[in-house]
Amino acid sequence: MDFEGKILNWYQKNKRDLPWRKTRKPYEIWLSEVILQQTRVQQGLPYYFSFLNKFPTINKLAEASEHDILKLWQGLGYYSRARNLHSAAKSIVSEHKGQFPETFLELKKLKGIGDYTAAAISSFCFNEVQAVVDGNVYRVLSRIFGIDTPIDSTEGKKEFRELANELISQKHPGEFNQAIMEFGALQCVPKNPDCEKCPFVQFCVARKKKMIDVLPIKLKKTKVTNRYFYYLVIRHKGNVYLKKRTEKDIWRNLHDFPLIETKEKLSEKKLIQTKEWKSFFSNSKIVVNDFSDEVKHVLSHQKLFVRFVVVDVKEKLKGKKEWLYIKEKELSKYAVPVVMERFIKQL
Ligand code: SF4
Repeated sequence: MDFEGKILNWYQKNKRDLPWRKTRKPYEIWLSEVILQQTRVQQGLPYYFSFLNKFPTINKLAEASEHDILKLWQGLGYYSRARNLHSAAKSIVSEHKGQFPETFLELKKLKGIGDYTAAAISSFCFNEVQAVVDGNVYRVLSRIFGIDTPIDSTEGKKEFRELANELISQKHPGEFNQAIMEFGALQCVPKNPDCEKCPFVQFCVARKKKMIDVLPIKLKKTKVTNRYFYYLVIRHKGNVYLKKRTEKDIWRNLHDFPLIETKEKLSEKKLIQTKEWKSFFSNSKIVVNDFSDEVKHVLSHQKLFVRFVVVDVKEKLKGKKEWLYIKEKELSKYAVPVVMERFIKQL
């Protein structure tokens, strides 16, 4: 089977017209790759344009404040990607005079750049023969070659990487990598692929053995935790309290309202009996004005159940030095989690 010929031919006929396919500039490719990790193309496109617009060069990105970067990233999730982007941009400027490293091994030394991103940049921009292996590639290879080694085992990762590196085009490694990923995204999709239209239909082991729904195999099921967030929107004379999330947790360095988090759902009555509530409002005159409906917010390993409690206080709260006290109308200037932004828009 001429794997290379078939995949490149399919790509020429079917590839989507995407802006980062028209460039070989590493800054632009890197930006698109980081944005597209864990994000669908349609969702990522506007972010790609707004980043390039606001930070047209790596120097501009390196000079930016983390706050501005997080604000622009708002809504994309996995905020560590944005923090790493910033940190890698600063290293490229300070240690490489603003020039992107050109090899897989050098690229991997940068923060947030792992095997996948290093292979993508080095092959797309510098023609290095390095195969990319992402979720799409695992699916395509496991099905066509009928490989049932789990993709999240050390053995599986090695086997798939070796196979991808055997198959990769020596002449057009970048195009080959784009082709196999695009093939996984458009043709060999997770559910009900249209095999009749597939150039590999005669060779595909998964199809022959009726294993399309089974492959690729993954060992571990992701464990999902439930968390219950009660956000306190504490208002005082047109101002609200806000705090920066500094803990090693989701949304680090974003801002949010003071929070009471519990492991189980609480009624309004139970919430105001918690020790956190009492410590926030001890001796304060308060009026609870609203208890929002519960909003479910799903992250990859967590399900958040979020409610907002609007509380008016007569006096400024004492002893909350780490909290910001800001004008309600200035809330939109802060980078906040998207679930909170939606609530703020209705205020
Ligand atoms: S025949 Fe079907 S399962 Fe096999 S590679 Fe093609 S689309 Fe995927």
